[in-house]
Amino acid sequence: MSELRQKILDEVKRVVIKVGSRVLVDSDRGGVRLDYIRRLAGSIAHLMNNGKEVVLVTSGAVGAGMAVLGYTKKPAVMAEKQACAAVGQIDLMHAYREEFRKLNIAAGQILLSADDFRDRSRYKNLQNTFQVMLSKKIIPIVNENDSVAVSEIKVGDNDKLSSDVALFIDADLLLIFTDEDGLYDDNPKKNPNARLLHFVPKITPEIMALAGAAGETGSAISTGGMKSKLESIRAAVNSGCSALLGNGFKVLPHEFFESETHGTFFAGNAKKIGSRHRWLSFVSTPRGAVVVDDGAVKALREKHSSLLPVGIADVRKNFARGDLIEVLDASGNRLARGISQYASSRLSLIQGKKTAEVRTILGKETPEEVIHKNDLVLF
Ligand code: GLU
Repeated sequence: MSELRQKILDEVKRVVIKVGSRVLVDSDRGGVRLDYIRRLAGSIAHLMNNGKEVVLVTSGAVGAGMAVLGYTKKPAVMAEKQACAAVGQIDLMHAYREEFRKLNIAAGQILLSADDFRDRSRYKNLQNTFQVMLSKKIIPIVNENDSVAVSEIKVGDNDKLSSDVALFIDADLLLIFTDEDGLYDDNPKKNPNARLLHFVPKITPEIMALAGAAGETGSAISTGGMKSKLESIRAAVNSGCSALLGNGFKVLPHEFFESETHGTFFAGNAKKIGSRHRWLSFVSTPRGAVVVDDGAVKALREKHSSLLPVGIADVRKNFARGDLIEVLDASGNRLARGISQYASSRLSLIQGKKTAEVRTILGKETPEEVIHKNDLVLF
């Protein structure tokens, strides 16, 4: 197994590294842990000098700002948290910039919200930005745009953000740090005999259940626990990106590439998905849904056809042309998702109708498909 891990790691070109608040922020004195950022920058420079492309997803803005604003734990009020993030983000970026500059590496800040992934044109722009930065050997340093994000446009936590970014830039490896040495078969804080898993070939429900056993949750300054880390790792792995979970207090990123004893390695599924499909899987909040008849279920499943008006039995919620919608079968099971070529109001006029009738109702120029097969992902 370890040979396989080494082989996959040797072939890694693009890495997303996620570092959490607990590692980055000094919980006793408050503020950014400069000594750690110095070592992290050195480790990342080492990887970059060895030909890896690196994107850093950083937390710590709220944690770093808390001390300045006089909080000892993360405030519950959203606006207060956002004020902390606004203050702390500058300190964090200042520290990164200084440390990377000493190593002759330019750092750039990318602050994201979930909307940036949902909108196709923003998505494309953002992809180009990453592309240019990576090709010019600039390190993109990503965080959620906390000071403006409200719950509807929040990615969630930075574990999720890191797997979104990994999928988004088609990374080969997602490296997530925690305060344990990796994933154990029981809670290592309670059971001294708990064993560290070194290699996870497949993320089964049993593996997911270990998140509970790990017993790690958010802390006074951090957000995600083992569950959110494993969910993010699963999302990455399912899209063909391998993942590593390791101890941010003990191991630096480049050390994972040099010794197989560190952390838990999760092998990515072989299947890599295309960019269009990747985007569709991203857009996490469909705006509405259509219920389709059995004939359409069969056509979608067996022939991977486009979805036509004739197969639509019901239209749910209001959505606009170009929105992401879900396709449900008659029992309400999720079958697929895709981009609707019709607004819900127009679709209601033509549901269940054959193409010729559709054209009589809406005119010749109207699209034949409700969802074109290229814009459709089956579950
Ligand atoms: N974006 C938050 C911050 O910078 C962290 C969220 C998280 O740790 O999941 O403080």
